[in-house]
Amino acid sequence: MQRFLWTSTCRSLLLGAACATLLAAETRANDSVERFSPLLTLPGPKIINSAAAYPGGGYEADNILSGAGAGGQKREYASDSKGTGTFIDFDFGKPVPIAGFRHVDRRDPATVDSAELIFSDGPDFGHPIAKVEVDHANTPGGTTFAQFDPVTARYVRWQVTAIGPHSTVGGREIAFFQVAPPELSPERTTLEVAALPALMKEDDKLRLPLRVNIDYPYAESTEAVLELPGGKTKEITLHTGRQTVEDAVPAMKAETQAAVVLKVAGRPVAQGTVELGPVRRWVVYFLPHSHVDIGYTHVQTEVEQRQWGHLEQAIEIARKTADYPTGAKFKWNAEVLWAVDSYLKQATDEKREAFLDAVRRGQMHLDALYGNELSALCRPEELFWLVECGRRLRSQYGLTIDAAMISDVPGYTWGLVPVMAQSGVKYFSIGPNPGHRIGHTLAAWGDRPFYWVSPSGKEKVLCWMAGKGYAWFHGGLSGSISQVKPELFFDYLQGLADAGYPYDMVQLRYSIGGDNGPPDPDLPEFVKDWNAKYAYPKMAITTTGELLREFERRYGDQIPEVRGDFTPYWEDGAGSSSRETGMNRASAERLVQAEAIWAMRRPKSYPAEEFYAAWRNVVLYDEHTWGAHCSISQPDSDFTRSQWKIKQDFAVQGEKQSRELLRAATGVPSHEPDGTAPDGKGAVQVLNTCSWPRTDLVLLPGPCTKAGDRVTAPDGKAVPSQRLSTGQLAFVASDVPPFGAKRYTISAGEAPGSGSATAEGETVSGAGLSVALDEKTGAMARLSADGMEANLVDTKSGLGLNDYFYVAGRDPKDPKRNGPVAITVKERGPLVASLVAECDAPGCRKLTREVRIVDGLDRVDIINVVDKEQVRTKEGVHFGYAFSVPEGAVRMDVPWAVVRPEADQMPGACKNYFTVQRWIDVSNDDFGVTWAVIDAPMVEVGGITTDVVPNPFGPDDWI
Ligand SMILES: [Zn+2]
Repeated sequence: MQRFLWTSTCRSLLLGAACATLLAAETRANDSVERFSPLLTLPGPKIINSAAAYPGGGYEADNILSGAGAGGQKREYASDSKGTGTFIDFDFGKPVPIAGFRHVDRRDPATVDSAELIFSDGPDFGHPIAKVEVDHANTPGGTTFAQFDPVTARYVRWQVTAIGPHSTVGGREIAFFQVAPPELSPERTTLEVAALPALMKEDDKLRLPLRVNIDYPYAESTEAVLELPGGKTKEITLHTGRQTVEDAVPAMKAETQAAVVLKVAGRPVAQGTVELGPVRRWVVYFLPHSHVDIGYTHVQTEVEQRQWGHLEQAIEIARKTADYPTGAKFKWNAEVLWAVDSYLKQATDEKREAFLDAVRRGQMHLDALYGNELSALCRPEELFWLVECGRRLRSQYGLTIDAAMISDVPGYTWGLVPVMAQSGVKYFSIGPNPGHRIGHTLAAWGDRPFYWVSPSGKEKVLCWMAGKGYAWFHGGLSGSISQVKPELFFDYLQGLADAGYPYDMVQLRYSIGGDNGPPDPDLPEFVKDWNAKYAYPKMAITTTGELLREFERRYGDQIPEVRGDFTPYWEDGAGSSSRETGMNRASAERLVQAEAIWAMRRPKSYPAEEFYAAWRNVVLYDEHTWGAHCSISQPDSDFTRSQWKIKQDFAVQGEKQSRELLRAATGVPSHEPDGTAPDGKGAVQVLNTCSWPRTDLVLLPGPCTKAGDRVTAPDGKAVPSQRLSTGQLAFVASDVPPFGAKRYTISAGEAPGSGSATAEGETVSGAGLSVALDEKTGAMARLSADGMEANLVDTKSGLGLNDYFYVAGRDPKDPKRNGPVAITVKERGPLVASLVAECDAPGCRKLTREVRIVDGLDRVDIINVVDKEQVRTKEGVHFGYAFSVPEGAVRMDVPWAVVRPEADQMPGACKNYFTVQRWIDVSNDDFGVTWAVIDAPMVEVGGITTDVVPNPFGPDDWI
């Protein structure tokens, strides 16, 4: 009610001379019998009990009484899916007369339909004094005001009795009111008037729709007259609370201000001013699409069938509306190409032709990405395979594919820019998830188009993130555009205008019916009718390419350029299937090697289709749909398991195909070779698929090396070798030329005994390096190199390198450590030396960590085997590396870029964790460590921060 008081003061200032009239009028009103009893806010209720809040800490019941939270955002109360079990108990400290109640609902589809107010003298509500039923607004952000005969009570319970479509109901604000002594004139009434951002067509004239909100805080209803610009008046009845009056007035081309006055008994009680022009010429563009989740809502095979159906339905709607006015003709965006790829492969000639015809007519838009990818999981080369299908379709059918879409996923790796640009993709429409674990994604970039400049600075892609995300028309609005009220668009446009949005074009992602939803056949009619009624905003159904080309034509010189990694937020999902994630990373590397060997040895017989199939599996594993929608609540249901089986199979098949292709590339027969040459010696060809000379460890399986332990280089000299405890024969291949090979022979005899690698006790050393393990934790307590005084381990931190931490649940405050370790020597040297630390560890059946040094190589190999227990609750396994590199700068390898945290990240990027590719480097001017991550792509800097976000629905709690 502070608002009433403030506005009242303001009004008297604004009115100036009018005040005198008002006072005079009040004097006369003394003769009248009419009285107005004001409703004033009751101060100081405390919440003493409530239904459990939605977990995470951001949705407590106290939010409903408090003002703005951190970052200026008003927080809400949401119950933990309690539905009609949702309640709040208020205590006023003493009995007070209560005569009114106001509730402002959550700005979320979880809305309240009705509730009951229960009044009581005791906090247990055992003997209620009275009950009042309240019919709620039942709309996101809606205000409910209830007035009733005063009840004197100390305690009030607000008990939800019916809800909208979702059960996480609560509210944004609750207030109670008491009746104050009556007044002669309803002066506390306030009025807000706004012109809607629209022009209506009426008898060949353009009229401006106005919306007047009147807050009338009095118990008695009364008649009133509203005076609108242009001499028009409207008779209305004022009721307690807020009411809205809408009307249209002549629009002005030039800037014009006009007054709206509310009169009661002929006396002005409230007024406001409004701009009557000029009106902005908005065009709202709909991008109709399904959100392709490969799984999640249905088993993947069923999703594919549904999506094929959507494609055909879209073509049909486009055909039926082909003669509609411009903008109302139906168009469909494929969003991604996964379903298009398989549709075209299985379609009859007739259907394929119909599809391609729709593409050529601009009715069906092909967007360049294969799936909605967790792009930072992708290997650099893999990103090119994300657009390969688009490249193929373009050249096979002579199509234009110059735009891409991504939906749901928040954050995108920087390397996408050069990949898209070099694949002919100039435009990128982004429609993230509207709220869940998106960090700063939308807050930073929603409705702020930008040119994303590549790491090299040579390429750029025009990106536009839809401010409402991809799913605005899901949930409460799902099903049909005909359910949507014009206010939705007006409020959105007004919000953009108020925020200084500089363009007259707006992008709305339009997908209905939830994920994997269908086209909306009602959309063309809606747009047609709208454009017949309104001159502005105009509406148009469009495609990604069409929209962004037009946007660039109109505003290309105003769009800012942005550099940096848009470090993504959802890649940590891959940690829930670490084994397959590691497999998939290795498969991608193996495919790159196989391609290089094919190019080196027999480029003409390159099996393009087999590589396409293998890469397709790798790409689909990194697609964002990570199992069923119920995989957390019902991890072992048939539905969840059947989806995981298919998801897992992308990794399993990708691995199998990559191994077959590597084998085929090298020309090695598919049966296990014994490596024995006709002269009785074994021979091995060591191939280098890199563009620089390489020296590295070669491990040969036991059966290949039956000939003996002696390895001879092409120059006839024996090279250091060692038979390992595993039966493998190890040797170091030196200076293998780039894209070249060296042939080594294996023959009878002892391995040469030279080499510096040794392992003893807790220490392993060699090649100028030395590592000591902590006998209690098994982590590295010392890592040092000859000629360097420093220990690279920060011993003061209390941790070592490769130190095990287990977080049960989400809170990392007190992570659990592993149990006592047994350290043994595995390989004694002189070429290969290693120690193994074995122990029990929380979350694991067993933890094994091997630390290996190879003579001649300047690195330490770490081989961790985490034999994981099956845990069905939230958990995290982290390995800590406390490096001591004073003033060290951190650099990370991401696809086609090197990123320094903060310095090379875009605003809005994730900093709670980073998804990296092959290495991270921590170096100062004198020394440093390069840490290669083989299987696990997730890295945190400075602490365990991945999941430390109490409220995952807002940006405030993210770093
Ligand atoms: Zn999705």
